[in-house]
Amino acid sequence: MDLPVVPKLEELASISPSFYNTALSCKAKAGWFRFAPQGAFPGTTGAILGGCFHAVMELANRGRLPAGAAGATRAKAEFDAIALELFAKAHPLLRAKFRSPAAVPYYHQRRARAVEMALKASTGATIDTTGSAPSEVGPPARSPRMHIEKKLTARDGFVTGRIDLLDEERRKITDYKSGHAPREGGSSLAENEVRQLHLYAHLARETGYDIAAAAIVRGDGTEAAVNISPDEVAREADAARALRSEFNIAAAAGKDLAELAMPAREICAGCPYLPACDPFWAAATPQWEEACGTNAEGTVTEMHSSTVSGTELVTLTIDASRGSAPRGVLIVEQIPNRWLAINGDPPLVGESVRVVQAARFSPTLEKEVRALHVDRFKSTAVWRAASPAQPI
Ligand code: SF4
Repeated sequence: MDLPVVPKLEELASISPSFYNTALSCKAKAGWFRFAPQGAFPGTTGAILGGCFHAVMELANRGRLPAGAAGATRAKAEFDAIALELFAKAHPLLRAKFRSPAAVPYYHQRRARAVEMALKASTGATIDTTGSAPSEVGPPARSPRMHIEKKLTARDGFVTGRIDLLDEERRKITDYKSGHAPREGGSSLAENEVRQLHLYAHLARETGYDIAAAAIVRGDGTEAAVNISPDEVAREADAARALRSEFNIAAAAGKDLAELAMPAREICAGCPYLPACDPFWAAATPQWEEACGTNAEGTVTEMHSSTVSGTELVTLTIDASRGSAPRGVLIVEQIPNRWLAINGDPPLVGESVRVVQAARFSPTLEKEVRALHVDRFKSTAVWRAASPAQPI
């Protein structure tokens, strides 16, 4: 696979909570997130499942789920339909790894949870026949004072966001997250989630909704809420506006993404743009492996092909010189050839590659030679780097 072209920075008309949160840790990551072409990177299967979860919750909140077993069937069908749609648009590498959306890890478990939560959320709904077949008509319609997927913009136009559920009667905002609560820090909300809720509360207040509380509801059914303090909300909004200005000054000055990068082991961990981020490859050391995973850049010195159960597999030997993997000879074992041939030609001996999110080393008999394994679930990918790696 060839690396995507680095996008050009542009000024932002407005800043969203997700851009704000991302840019606080790395402005380059936020820039990739905003300006990279859709589907330029494989992303994660979790993003597909998250999209399905949101769609099912939206259906429930709009009052379009019938009660009981019919509601469960309808919610399940919605989850499956959205999964198919998102899977069809997913990066070809992801589609090469999984034969269907139902084959992605945790699919059935996440679907069952989404259905359960949607049925709970739809309790007490009133009839909303808009666009619904008569057989789909269920319990009573949502109050017109409940707003679903509401896009709001601050009065000055500089902050904008889309709120999953805004309940005027309960003076509450709800945001749905398909993942789990933060594991560290002992809090039920991560700092970035609190910031997001504050910005949503700011948008709601700016557009005339008197909001007193905001909550994250997770895919496992747990809810974590914050009370809204007008001062904190205003401070967060000022910080978001200031960050937008900083970003725009950099864009207007013609800076590129690499100049905005803030590589660090905790920050780069899990970054989907890492394969193409030169500052990461320049800064990372083997000490980053624990936090960032095994990512190696090096020159291909040998290639061997084999066929196992009808699948053509390629083993690459690389001389690794940069990244979060140890330096020296690495053997990247049994990569399906079709993974290498997506969006470009497979690498050749003498070319430079970036192997990202490989499975950990297994000890080998030869101390100086180490093996990496490709792993469908760990998002392993092999990219052709633009130029040969320079040892540092
Ligand atoms: S890899 Fe690190 S430095 Fe590069 S964009 Fe991602 S978070 Fe920023």
